[in-house]
Amino acid sequence: MASVFETKIEYIKGVGPQKAKILGKELGLFTYGDLIQYYPFRYEDRTRFYKLNEIRSDSSTLQIKGTIAHMGLVGPPRKQRLVAKFKDETGMTELVWFSGAKWIMSSLKVGPEYVIYGKPNIFRGSVSFPHPEIELFTPGSKTKGYLHPVYHTTEILKRRFLDSKAISKIQRRVFEVIGNKIPETLPHHMLEHYGFMGKAQALGQIHFPKDQKNLDNATSRLKFEELFFVQLKLLGEREKRQASFPGMIFSEIPRVSEFYNNHLPFDLTGAQKRVIKEIRKDFASGKQMNRLLQGDVGSGKTIVAFICMLMAVDNNAQACLMAPTEILAHQHYQGLKEYAKALGLHIAILTGSTKKSERRILHEMLRSGDLHLLVGTHALLEDEVQFKNLGLCIIDEQHRFGVAQRARLWNKNKTIHPHILVMTATPIPRTLAMTVYGDLDVSVIDELPAGRKPIQTIHKFDSNRLRVFGFIGEEIKKGRQVYIVYPLIEESDTLDLKDLTDGYESVCRAFPDRHVSIVHGKMKSDVKDYEMQRFIKGETHIMVATTVIEVGVNVPNASVMVIENAERFGLAQLHQLRGRVGRGGEQSYCILMTGVKLSKEGKTRMETMVRTNNGFEIADVDLKLRGPGDLTGTQQSGVLDLLIADLATDGKILQEARAAAEKILDEDPQLALGKHSPLRAHISSLKKSAVNWGRIS
Ligand code: ADP
Ligand code: MG
Repeated sequence: MASVFETKIEYIKGVGPQKAKILGKELGLFTYGDLIQYYPFRYEDRTRFYKLNEIRSDSSTLQIKGTIAHMGLVGPPRKQRLVAKFKDETGMTELVWFSGAKWIMSSLKVGPEYVIYGKPNIFRGSVSFPHPEIELFTPGSKTKGYLHPVYHTTEILKRRFLDSKAISKIQRRVFEVIGNKIPETLPHHMLEHYGFMGKAQALGQIHFPKDQKNLDNATSRLKFEELFFVQLKLLGEREKRQASFPGMIFSEIPRVSEFYNNHLPFDLTGAQKRVIKEIRKDFASGKQMNRLLQGDVGSGKTIVAFICMLMAVDNNAQACLMAPTEILAHQHYQGLKEYAKALGLHIAILTGSTKKSERRILHEMLRSGDLHLLVGTHALLEDEVQFKNLGLCIIDEQHRFGVAQRARLWNKNKTIHPHILVMTATPIPRTLAMTVYGDLDVSVIDELPAGRKPIQTIHKFDSNRLRVFGFIGEEIKKGRQVYIVYPLIEESDTLDLKDLTDGYESVCRAFPDRHVSIVHGKMKSDVKDYEMQRFIKGETHIMVATTVIEVGVNVPNASVMVIENAERFGLAQLHQLRGRVGRGGEQSYCILMTGVKLSKEGKTRMETMVRTNNGFEIADVDLKLRGPGDLTGTQQSGVLDLLIADLATDGKILQEARAAAEKILDEDPQLALGKHSPLRAHISSLKKSAVNWGRIS
């Protein structure tokens, strides 16, 4: 059965070895199976003729029937363009060709009926069509109307006459050969439940749609199927791991109780309590926990982390917390030390700059079990760091660590692997989390501590700088501190550094009687730390910095965040930066400075920031703007090699696919039932061909 799909495409009539070779090189198409899954990326609507008076500013490509009333060459000889006045019974437009003008003019006539196809361009209220497709209207030929598939192709392919139309022709030939040999991949009861067409029909309709309705059904079926098999795999893996890896059981809670009764510095939010409950359930299950804890900046993940660490300690296990930077590790350490001291627990910090002599003592205390809690950077991963009985690893800010590092922590206890809690302040849209972290359980802190005043965000143009400085001055007078952040795309970028130092000088000039700190990535780390500490202690009023302050830094007295050249930051980064203020009881502000000229995307980013403080909402917009690949870093991107589904827009289908996969695995974890045989067959064929699949695992 599978063999037809593995047939090399050079055997298709009209392809041959030469074309097959470049199709493989340019598009990764080698077999019939590859080709049939090379889907059109859009369809041209040739189902009807539009009228000129129907054109709107957001119209996409249109088909219009009409006549040329007049045409002529315009402009100086070497830059001549052809302009044709084209009319139908509702109006007039201009068709414009900038290249090949003379030749095109000689092939067109005034008078007969033409069909044009192109995207209208509207400038100052007048409509034109640059370089439209144009052909004589032949009555009868176009009466049936059709959706015309468009395939991505490349310049090299086009030079070999493999344009979109040619690919469509090849698809037709392939389909003639294998159309009736395509096996069904979804069980009958699922097709019925969702009202989906069969696989073979869906593949036919995606390449040669009969009408919009059939195309829609084919598209949703294929998207569903793609996401469904990814979920089936991820959930299957999670199940397998849970079955095979036991976890320590943390059932005693003497110190947790003492902490709750005597030392809890504030009431926990409902969300914090719920998350702690979820984690406690994991700790009681006897299975090793792998959980992602998502919570917006300032949502209070640290105390949750500490309480989880206490549960480990209460059961004679040790716990560690790994942060992505030294500054962050120190802040965590400072915070946790207070709590630990109150309970008489031993805690230490280990980073790249920990002295050798200290390290030796520390290693010894870890091995003997005298040290209960360890905070640090990736220095924790080193082999000499051995615990007596590590029970819980918490990783802060996951996107900076790879999966491999997670595994190294995991192996620090070989008798029984420690529980893993990954905390991230980069909210990931649910759809993406389900796929990228599909093998982790997810907890979300979706509530900020009470009494926080939402940060007010304002977008200002550079021309308003004086007023912004005036505002900064007012805030400082009230005793607050201010961040002014400059973009630094690359640490080596000297131009950016000049922006920063110019900015610093102008700030010093504007506030001659205030203390100003400057921090950037090119400074030595001890100088940087010193400056940072001055600001943290309140000795300086303004901190001019690059994004080195992005992650985690906590200065509750800072109430204003000014972001210069804000259009150069991504949404996630803007949101992270904004999270540096609003940590105290005062009203805080984030001021986004940009030039007047903004791209459409830049405008959307500024508007989104001004509109909402909700990290999840921002992440959703970001996903739509940038696509999923960018959001997650590289290590998991294999999961995102989807052929037809789009995580940015297909969230609903994904949810259904995941629910369907859960239901099936609940009923039949081994997929052993007869009715699930199409699933088994498809999974094994996926494994063999390694399309998509191999890259996931
Ligand atoms: P993040 O989730 O960004 O790591 P933190 O754990 O640093 O947030 O908490 C941010 C601030 O909010 C800290 O100063 C912390 O003490 C405080 N905080 C956390 N939880 C609560 C709560 N339930 N009530 C009041 N303040 C809280
Ligand atoms: Mg934090």
